[in-house]
Amino acid sequence: MASMIFTDPSSAAAVVHRLPFARFSNGLISLHRFVGPLHVCSPTTTLPRTLSLRSPRSSRFITASMATEPSAKMIDGKAVAKQIREEISGEVSKLKEAIGVVPGLAVILVGDRKDSATYVRNKKKACESVGINSFEVHLPDDASEEEVLKFISDFNGDPTVHGILVQLPLPSHMNEQNILNAVTIEKDVDGFHPLNIGRLAMRGREPLFVPCTPKGCIELLHRYGVDIKGKRAVVIGRSNIVGMPAALLLQREDATVTIVHSRTKNPEEITRQADIIISAVGQPNMVRGSWIKPGAVIIDVGINPVEDASSPRGYRLVGDVCYEEACEIAAAVTPVPGGVGPMTIAMLLSNTLSSAKRAYNIK
Ligand code: NAP
Repeated sequence: MASMIFTDPSSAAAVVHRLPFARFSNGLISLHRFVGPLHVCSPTTTLPRTLSLRSPRSSRFITASMATEPSAKMIDGKAVAKQIREEISGEVSKLKEAIGVVPGLAVILVGDRKDSATYVRNKKKACESVGINSFEVHLPDDASEEEVLKFISDFNGDPTVHGILVQLPLPSHMNEQNILNAVTIEKDVDGFHPLNIGRLAMRGREPLFVPCTPKGCIELLHRYGVDIKGKRAVVIGRSNIVGMPAALLLQREDATVTIVHSRTKNPEEITRQADIIISAVGQPNMVRGSWIKPGAVIIDVGINPVEDASSPRGYRLVGDVCYEEACEIAAAVTPVPGGVGPMTIAMLLSNTLSSAKRAYNIK
């Protein structure tokens, strides 16, 4: 199969084979292989539009007038995440100088999944790069739930640990809900504790932590000066870790939010009304150009490996949104990879730093 060619997953004729599972961050992904009639995900429409976005590195607004060129602004998550890590690094040094405290993140990994081990290693490396201490517990696949709960309890009581993260997925014999609920809300840097989610959903309440991926999406909108207030936003996907908290966050910022999920009728028509689209589905190139309102801003959370014989790994990563078509119509769009992905780890570091500052009542 040619490397740049996909069947349209939204077409009834397309057949998507799910290949063996791999795991990204906190979500399951599978490798997609398309067979059936080929459909090229490529530019189809050119529409005039204007765009005013702030450069993430300055307060200057860039106004671009776009005629027929495919010139949507790329929202560069990699660059923004780098900038955020530098800011965190500066704050970590200041905290250490001021009160001798170094933020600490504890990560619990159960089992021998290579992908999970890679994520944990990346989180450790990211901590090191900004001066945050990391603590790792690696338990065998047949460890008991009680063992995991004991480590969580120890970290809950350890004043050098300010954030606790349990790498998902857990082995099937463990109750994920019991384990995630055992993390004290003050150290729930993943933001998955029901109390944090509940506070996020309630007006006038403040969560101690916001889940990292949706927080990263909103941070990208802020850093690019995208107005959220009063805008129509569509979130595609309603998972506990991305879609649902992303919708809550947009609502807190006074957007008018619609959630599209697998049972939604006319998802294309609904999505086309959005000024802001956040897509967290896990379906390669599902959001086509025809789903996008001219001038919309698109945050693509999806990370979908698709077969690519020309790649040394045999696959490459694409988002939920057909990037080439989005570039023709949207005002701005995140690439995959290099969009939301790097922001997730940056937000984890940010949550860990905030937790350490909160523990010592430092603003
Ligand atoms: P998930 O738990 O599988 O949730 C997927 C959501 O998409 C569900 O709400 C599902 O609806 C909805 N959906 C599925 N098919 C749909 C369709 N055809 N039309 C409309 N909605 C549909 O996935 P997730 O954990 O949220 O992850 C979503 C994607 O984001 C994945 O590609 C994952 O790899 C990626 N991700 C990226 C990061 C990052 O750091 N960049 C972090 C986490 C996840 P129902 O609720 O009706 O089933």
